[in-house]
Amino acid sequence: MVCCTLAAIPMATRHDPPVHWDVHDEERPQPPAVDPGSAPKNPRSIPSDATVLLDGTSLDSWTHMDGSPADWNVVDSTVEVAPGTGDIQTRHTFGDVQLHVEWAAPSEVIGEGQGRGNSGVFLMDHYEVQVLDSYENPTYADGLCAAIYGQYPPLVNACRPPGAWQTFDITFRRPHFDENGNVVRPARITVIHNGVLAIDNAILTGPTDHQARPPYTAHDPRLPLRLQDHGDRVRFRNVWVRKLE
Ligand code: MG
Repeated sequence: MVCCTLAAIPMATRHDPPVHWDVHDEERPQPPAVDPGSAPKNPRSIPSDATVLLDGTSLDSWTHMDGSPADWNVVDSTVEVAPGTGDIQTRHTFGDVQLHVEWAAPSEVIGEGQGRGNSGVFLMDHYEVQVLDSYENPTYADGLCAAIYGQYPPLVNACRPPGAWQTFDITFRRPHFDENGNVVRPARITVIHNGVLAIDNAILTGPTDHQARPPYTAHDPRLPLRLQDHGDRVRFRNVWVRKLE
């Protein structure tokens, strides 16, 4: 028996192209769990050239999808999803960005799989980085926390326990389209979850969707960022963005 060779140690590898797997394929391998260390007590410092989108004191920079004022709950310097009110989006629009998001799943564990601490960070309204309580909570690999939903599982599962603050640091390069609406450059995304590389410059196949991988459809070079109401009381704080264009 060969034991404890380097080859036997699970390693974060590069992403399998999604085309090798059906969307939400239950057979797709699960990434190894990694303990990212304890959660920072305080929100991350904000760079001087960043635009603060959510500081926990108001939702002035956000609306619901119909343009009405965002009415999620502002509590204790955080913003909590108000289930049933719907997603919220930024009033400003963005293309290429560096995005920092801090979030926490509910401390009280309710539900399982996709029904536990589910929300999402949508770049340009179309491309979701999954927010999910994936701490000892199995689900299909391309729906885990920090997955590009329905396309790429994270390289590792770096989720903290429910209730703990977690960070996403996302670099997103928008898709480019020609005048006929054809993709000339697909979107690319990198996600660092709690300081751990989860998505490594992955090439998006198109918009993210549930049980589908739709092709790209041409859209504006700048669109709002969106946070998802999936019915769970996920909290957010300290969301800021740096434009990269
Ligand atoms: Mg989601």
